[in-house]
Amino acid sequence: MAKGLVADIQRASLHDGYGIRTTVFLKGCPLNCKWCHNPECISFKPETMYYPEKCIGCGKCDEGCFSGAKVVCGQYMTADEVMSELLLDKPYYKDGGGITISGGEPMAQKQLVKALIALCKNNSIGCAMETSLIYYDADIFKGLDFIMADMKIWDTGIHKEYTGVGNEQIKDNFKKLNTINIPIIARTPVIPGVEQGIDKISEFMQGLENVVQYELLPYHPLGIAKRKALRKEITEFDIPSKEYMLEVGRYAFIR
Ligand code: SF4
Ligand code: SF4
Repeated sequence: MAKGLVADIQRASLHDGYGIRTTVFLKGCPLNCKWCHNPECISFKPETMYYPEKCIGCGKCDEGCFSGAKVVCGQYMTADEVMSELLLDKPYYKDGGGITISGGEPMAQKQLVKALIALCKNNSIGCAMETSLIYYDADIFKGLDFIMADMKIWDTGIHKEYTGVGNEQIKDNFKKLNTINIPIIARTPVIPGVEQGIDKISEFMQGLENVVQYELLPYHPLGIAKRKALRKEITEFDIPSKEYMLEVGRYAFIR
């Protein structure tokens, strides 16, 4: 039975695709985006997050923390265990809803992803994925209803500076993905102060006929508290203003 490291299962999500969805966050990502809002999903190992403001000093850390000051992120689960959680929400998966496999980079845990897609099919549940598209596997992608994939920065050097990897592979994978018949929602997180080349990304996406939508998502600083809890390095970015979002918004499109 396929098994993998799960960071979280979030119910009633309205932002991870169409309809009401339950999102499974898998742990581990080969990128390291400085603005990542799920930094607890980057490491491929379970991690302890520590929130000192919640610590009541009870000294019972060895017995497990009940105040929420020390939280372990990452639990090894089989596909069946994940599925039994997802089935609890089945009545809500109407109107195009279903599950979204996210992360981290879900394609880094292919065996678990394959098993989850198969279980969704067996249970007549829709299944989508959020991915950085750093990996490509047509057989896996063909089993999905749609894919949400990011192109964060156009220039590969700047992409490497902010995410730790170049983007040639991601561009190639977008082109390959366009050859199979899966709707793609392409997305760019909008990070003020970073030369992202949103105009060029939009032009590239317009050339891919399976991209049904190109979305621009404003940066939000939710990841900062989690980075502190993980004792990771912090880079601060500005939240984009309404004016800036309107300015870049002209590059977004829906087909
Ligand atoms: S168990 Fe939690 S609240 Fe108690 S000392 Fe440890 S971290 Fe603090
Ligand atoms: S690709 Fe996504 S999960 Fe991975 S580091 Fe970047 S924002 Fe975080």
